[in-house]
Amino acid sequence: MDKQNDQSRMDKIVSLAKRRGFVFQSSEIYGGLNGFWDYGPLGVALKRNVKDAWWRDMVAGHDELATLTGAPSPYEMTGLDCTIIMHPQVWKCSGHFDLFHDWMIDCRESKRRYRYDHLHGRWAAHRGKKVFVTTEASGDEAVPETVARAQKFFGLRAKQVDEIEWGGGLESLEQVIAAGSATLADTLGPDAAAPGSLTEPREFNLMFETRIGALAGDDDDRAFLRPETAQGIFVNFKNVLDTSRVRVPFGIAQVGKSFRNEITPRNFTFRSREFEQMEIEFFCKPAESAEWYRFWRDRRWKWYLGLGLTEGRLQLREHHRDELSHYSVGTADIEYAFPFLAEGEFGELEGIAHRGDFDLRSHMEGKLIRKDGELVVETGPDGKPRHRGSGKDLSYFDDVSRERYVPHVIEPSAGADRGTLAFLCDAFHEDEVPDEDGKPRSRTVMKFHPRLAPVKAAILPLVKKDGMPEVAIDLYRALKPHMACQYDEKGSVGRRYARQDEAGTPWCLTIDGQTLADKTVTLRDRDSLVQSRVPIADVVDLLRDKLA
Ligand code: ATP
Repeated sequence: MDKQNDQSRMDKIVSLAKRRGFVFQSSEIYGGLNGFWDYGPLGVALKRNVKDAWWRDMVAGHDELATLTGAPSPYEMTGLDCTIIMHPQVWKCSGHFDLFHDWMIDCRESKRRYRYDHLHGRWAAHRGKKVFVTTEASGDEAVPETVARAQKFFGLRAKQVDEIEWGGGLESLEQVIAAGSATLADTLGPDAAAPGSLTEPREFNLMFETRIGALAGDDDDRAFLRPETAQGIFVNFKNVLDTSRVRVPFGIAQVGKSFRNEITPRNFTFRSREFEQMEIEFFCKPAESAEWYRFWRDRRWKWYLGLGLTEGRLQLREHHRDELSHYSVGTADIEYAFPFLAEGEFGELEGIAHRGDFDLRSHMEGKLIRKDGELVVETGPDGKPRHRGSGKDLSYFDDVSRERYVPHVIEPSAGADRGTLAFLCDAFHEDEVPDEDGKPRSRTVMKFHPRLAPVKAAILPLVKKDGMPEVAIDLYRALKPHMACQYDEKGSVGRRYARQDEAGTPWCLTIDGQTLADKTVTLRDRDSLVQSRVPIADVVDLLRDKLA
């Protein structure tokens, strides 16, 4: 297998994404805006196909009468579309207002800002001078980076590098400072020439704030752009129960924009400040929740495989107990080996969390904290709830078993942009194909799963005469109501194939001399390059079957 994790591969993907109209930098003509991305003509179709596949497979196409493999019973699925700005109390009770923080650290010298938990370093000494050298790099690149930085700091030539004495392996800056074994005064920032340029870490709430109303001014008008779509589902739980016939177990799905003022947006669309999520809150009986958790974890894992992500580049990672949120009974991440990461590293595509009854209780009773192993309402100095809940009863009455309980929640929470980026990276291939004269020509081909491909078929008349365009246009019109297709008569057929390969179009249909004689067309398969003759009359059904 060729080396997949390298920056040059990522650079090629980013450049193709720009050149072919998958992804543009937001507001590019004004110099761009860090952490914000726009989807171009091919990108919007790709991302829409990812979201549509998710909605179809999880919600619209779900068979409510069947017991799916691994599921304890049949279940129902429904959906919601909630607002981005919600009552500020929602975020106080959910915990985001108090807890949704990252620690950031600034460098006075380089003027750069870092996530505190992203910095690592190690002690280096040379002729009595000692410094804690830090880097933002991770994986295989981190150690060579510290060597290069120390060499520069001590003013050494390459052959003197062995004179540096190292005080051990890489350690997290956060932990070293907490343990008192280094101070910020001893620390050489990742982009600084001298130690002591890093500021004390500061807490930073990731929620974007806004004001509601024309006369906004006092604190009561403060509102937030949602950092996740999930809370809209919890606060509508009762509305859904009261207005539809759903019964536990059931899931509510939502796709929509979320906003996080990330300290260091990076890695193309991977960490953006505005992004889309595809979330399900699945409500079940507490006694069955562990089984449902396993069901959803496995089901979501298979979804990515079914849409063609390379299994060897995917990882299902069960969180250790000390990594779990204070309310979580179990969490697993589905991760992908993005090419911008070091070899052996993975980035999160989706988290599947067992959240117990934390969310529904928070919105009933008020913000919860864990005390002596129990979730209790957090109180202020006056003994009253720190953040008061809605007071509404969000319990569920099971009219068959005659039991009343607060359902437990399993939450598969996926990022539409991260998923789209993984599909984009996984699809990128470079190979060689014979050109029209049989000579090898290198090609870039996006091997998207046909369901995700922005364009499913291209219809190409071999030449712009002899009645071929007319036949091709008829075929285009027959196919268009069923799938996204393009008509292209410009340039040599080889160039037209190359354009479609870069766009990831799975099938090309060429109308040639033989078409006029026997009403067949050439069907070219993007991946195998096999060309077969198909009667025009069969094309629509054939491609529809392939897409089904
Ligand atoms: P990370 O640790 O990478 O910041 P997270 O654990 O905070 O992610 P969640 O809160 O679990 O992420 O959000 C669920 C999903 O939403 C993630 O798996 C990811 O796909 C997506 N997501 C979260 N933050 C971002 C972001 N800044 N940009 C793009 N997608 C995001």
